[in-house]
Amino acid sequence: MDFERARKQDVEGRVYEALEKAKEAQARLNAAVTFVDPKEQLKELEAIGADAAMYGMPVVLKDNVNTKGIRTTASSRILDNYIPVYNAHIVDKLQAAGAVVIAKASMDELGMGGTNRNAYTGPVNNAWDESRISGGSSGGSAALVAAGVVPFAIGTDTGDSVRKPAAYQGIIGMKPTYGRISRYGIIPYASSLDHVGYFTTSVQDTAVALEVLAGRDDRDMTSSNRAVEAYAANLNHDLRGKRIAVLDNVQEAVADPAIRENFDALMKKLEARGATVTHVRMDDKLMKALMPTYYIIANAEATANHSNLDGIRFGMREAGENVEDVMINTRTKGFCSYVRKRFVIGSYSLFVENQDKIFRKAQKVRRLIVEELNRVLANSDVVIASAAGTIAPLAEESKDSHLGADNNVAENHMVLGNFSGYPSMTMPTGFAEGMPIGINMTAKAFDEQTLFNIGLAIEEETGLKGNDVEVDA
Ligand code: GLN
Repeated sequence: MDFERARKQDVEGRVYEALEKAKEAQARLNAAVTFVDPKEQLKELEAIGADAAMYGMPVVLKDNVNTKGIRTTASSRILDNYIPVYNAHIVDKLQAAGAVVIAKASMDELGMGGTNRNAYTGPVNNAWDESRISGGSSGGSAALVAAGVVPFAIGTDTGDSVRKPAAYQGIIGMKPTYGRISRYGIIPYASSLDHVGYFTTSVQDTAVALEVLAGRDDRDMTSSNRAVEAYAANLNHDLRGKRIAVLDNVQEAVADPAIRENFDALMKKLEARGATVTHVRMDDKLMKALMPTYYIIANAEATANHSNLDGIRFGMREAGENVEDVMINTRTKGFCSYVRKRFVIGSYSLFVENQDKIFRKAQKVRRLIVEELNRVLANSDVVIASAAGTIAPLAEESKDSHLGADNNVAENHMVLGNFSGYPSMTMPTGFAEGMPIGINMTAKAFDEQTLFNIGLAIEEETGLKGNDVEVDA
């Protein structure tokens, strides 16, 4: 459901209908952690002009977004009792634009995972087929947009956590440039890779939403001073002169032939509209290094970020004989074993004797990877590839436990957007076996407009504007 269709109903009607639908969908999808009573927010809408960009839009937030007075767990047992005393910057922004939060959505615990099976409240199912994974870590947000419950949801993206669940559920997943959206009040995962992102079902909404969310915030030192552009007014589907570079390393690794065919057919259509489609290849060794490099950096930063979740400073508390015991017991009970495993890896690479040969080395490799991406982007406007190599896996076949052993670039290339901080967007382009499939594009820093413009042309070709389970059914 896009904003336009949502607007066809009066504000109260659409907000309460969305809340009702979210509750109904819970047995099927398990996408929400907490439902939010919209009464107060609806009252506050009286002070906001009906022409505000997201006036009366029911929206969902990933549960790592701090909401004043509303439980925020990051889908971790350790934060089960955490009620923030302040709003994340983006919550204020959304509400000032008229959005009404109806639920906090499930995620892989603390953002760690790609399946949404690592959530304290249990796995989230795919809106298109409940026997399949939603993808993660922003799986609950994606599922509620894909199910047609809300037209917009917030996610966060450290490795691909907005763009992967978007691909698996046939909606748009947008991760803007690092620094474009303030992260103040977001429970972090890995600070040099974390981005706020979001889900929509139309390119127009994607452009409108960035205008709402973007902008300097003095409380986030990494947020950019760059002026926010008029993305929606500047939308332009003209592809003439646009240079689109296909990342061959990824296409060759795509396992499902139907996904490759869908991609190739789309490239022909973009060429017919005047785009120049070229093929590029990034160094294979660097591409193989994507996941090991990512896991070293992400887990090291996560270990540092979450050292305050110890039952003393933050989090639920598990009793013990002394302070040390309290911390050990709290952290043992508070995190799932997968998250604890990641902290072990993170700590290991931060040991003084290991820092140079593991952590700093990974940072150097990250730099080489970004330089390689710069090389291919120097001669093109976007790099494009299939968003994933397969449709959403069946729940019983999906695993998150390998931690870096999987070097299939078709499954993990989107981390390029996090290493570089460049804007990256996933959108639906068709179906295989009744499940949605899609593409991912990455542009130069702060060139979100080009993603939206090429995305608009793609949306016109695919006809998948407003794609959700309800529309398709
Ligand atoms: N799947 C990746 C991980 O487990 C990415 C997660 C994310 O982007 N938050 O770290």
